[in-house]
Amino acid sequence: MDAIIVGAGLAGLACARELERSGKRVIVLEASDRVGGRVATDSVRGFQIDQGFQVYLDAYPEGRMQLDLLALKLNPFEPGALVAENGKLSGVSDPWKRPSAAIRSLCNGTISIPDAIRIAFLRRYVLARYHSANGMRGTKSDRENNFLTSTTTREFLLARGFSDECMRRFFEPFFGGVFLERKLKTSSDIFEFTFAMFSLGSATLPADGMGAIPVQIACRLAPGTVRLHQQVERVEPGRVFLANRETISAKHVVVATTFSSAAKILPQEVCDQFTTRTWKSTRMLAFAALNSPLQSRTLVVSADKDGPIDNLCVPSDIAPSYAPPGASLVVASIRAEWTASEEATLEAVRLQSSVWFGQAARNWELISYVKIDEALPDESPQARRTRPTGNTCAAGISLCGDYCTSASINGALYSGRMCAEQLLIQTGEAEPS
Ligand SMILES: Cc1cc2nc3c(=O)[nH]c(=O)nc-3n(C[C@H](O)[C@H](O)[C@H](O)COP(=O)(O)OP(=O)(O)OC[C@H]3O[C@@H](n4cnc5c(N)ncnc54)[C@H](O)[C@@H]3O)c2cc1C
Repeated sequence: MDAIIVGAGLAGLACARELERSGKRVIVLEASDRVGGRVATDSVRGFQIDQGFQVYLDAYPEGRMQLDLLALKLNPFEPGALVAENGKLSGVSDPWKRPSAAIRSLCNGTISIPDAIRIAFLRRYVLARYHSANGMRGTKSDRENNFLTSTTTREFLLARGFSDECMRRFFEPFFGGVFLERKLKTSSDIFEFTFAMFSLGSATLPADGMGAIPVQIACRLAPGTVRLHQQVERVEPGRVFLANRETISAKHVVVATTFSSAAKILPQEVCDQFTTRTWKSTRMLAFAALNSPLQSRTLVVSADKDGPIDNLCVPSDIAPSYAPPGASLVVASIRAEWTASEEATLEAVRLQSSVWFGQAARNWELISYVKIDEALPDESPQARRTRPTGNTCAAGISLCGDYCTSASINGALYSGRMCAEQLLIQTGEAEPS
C-alpha cells in the first residue's frame, strides 16, 4: 500500500482520488457505514433528507476541477433570499442576476439605496480579490501571513459602512445561516470567498441529494479502495491500528478526519495543535407538507427578533426528487442560540412558520429531526490562526480536512487534493504548483 487514508469524508475521498490518478495504491478506512462524512442524505419515506441544511455553490473552483457537475444534475436556488420579519416576507435579490427583483427590494425598503451601493462595491472588491493572483482559497499566501490581519466578518462589513439595518436584515440572517453563527465572528476571508462564490454562481441542490457529491467521487475510485465500518483507534508513521485489532501498514498515513477525531488517533506529541479548536452545532427539522408554502426556489431567512428558525426552504421546489409525488419537503434550520428541547422547538417552529405562511403550516408532519453537534469548526480569526499550517503533521503522517483550509465543500476538496499533491512532491512524483 502506498497510502492509508483515515476518513471517507470529502477531503479523504479527494485525496484518494488524486493519489490513485497518479497510480498509487490507496485504501480509505471509514468508521461509519457510508462515505461522505458531514455530507450525507438519508431517504425517509420517499423524501431525501440532507443531514443538516447544506447547499453546493456551483462556482466552487475545486468542485469544477474535481466533480462531474453535469452528472450531479444541480438544481439552482433563486439568487438572493426572502427576509421574514414580523409576518412579512420581503425579497432581497442580486441586481446582476435579477435586476428587476433587486429594484423591487430597493422599493420595498428591505435594503436602502446607500447599502445597495455598498453591496455593489463589496461585490467588485471581493471579485477583484478572488481573481487576483493570491485568490482566496485558503491557500499558501493566507498561511504565510498567518491571518494576522484578518478581521471578523462583522468588523469587515461595519468598516465598509453597512448600516445596522442592513446587518440585521440581510447579513446576519443570510450569512449567519451559512456560518451557523449570527454574531458574524467568522473570519472575513471566509466571508469574502463565500460572497464571491454566491456572486459568481448559484446555490444548488443535486437531484439525488447532497450525499450524491461524495458518492460520485467514491464511485471513481478503484474497486475496494473504500472500506466501511473500519474504526481507526491509533495511527503512527506507516501504521494504522483498527478497533478490530487489525494493523495495516503503508508508506504514508493520511488522517482525513475532523480535528477532534484526529486528536484521538494521532500520536500524543502532535495532538496539542487541535485542543484549542471548538465546534459550531446545528439542528434541522424536516417536514412533509401537502403543498409547498413557498412555491418558489427561494431561501427564507429570518430577521425576526424571536423564534427558532434561522432559515427555511422547500428543497422539493428546487429539486422535485426531494419529495415523493404529491408532497413537498420543508426544512427549517434552527438558530444556534435556540436551545429548547426538540418538542418545544417543534412547537415554536410550527408557530413561527404559521405566522409566515398561515395555518396550513400547523399541519406539516415532522419526518426527521437532525442534530449535528460537530457541524462546522469555529472559524474566527483566532481559531484560524491555530489551524495546521501544512499537510504534513509528523514524518509519515499527513493531515487533511476542512479545518486545515476552510469549512466548506470547496475547502475539504481542496485540502484533500493538496495533501495528495504534497505526498507526490515528497516522493518526487510531482512538482510544487
Ligand atoms: C449542517 C452543515 C451544513 C453545511 N453547509 C455547507 C454548505 O452549505 N456548503 C458547503 O460548502 N459546506 C457546508 N458544510 C461544510 C461541509 O459539509 C464540510 O466542510 C465538509 O463536508 C467537511 O469534509 P471533511 O472531509 O473535512 O470532514 P468530514 O466530512 O467530517 O469527514 C471525516 C470522516 O472521517 C471519518 N472518521 C472520523 N474518525 C474516524 C476514525 N477514527 N476512523 C475512521 N474514520 C473516521 C468520519 O466518519 C467521516 O466520514 C456544512 C456542514 C454541515 C455539518
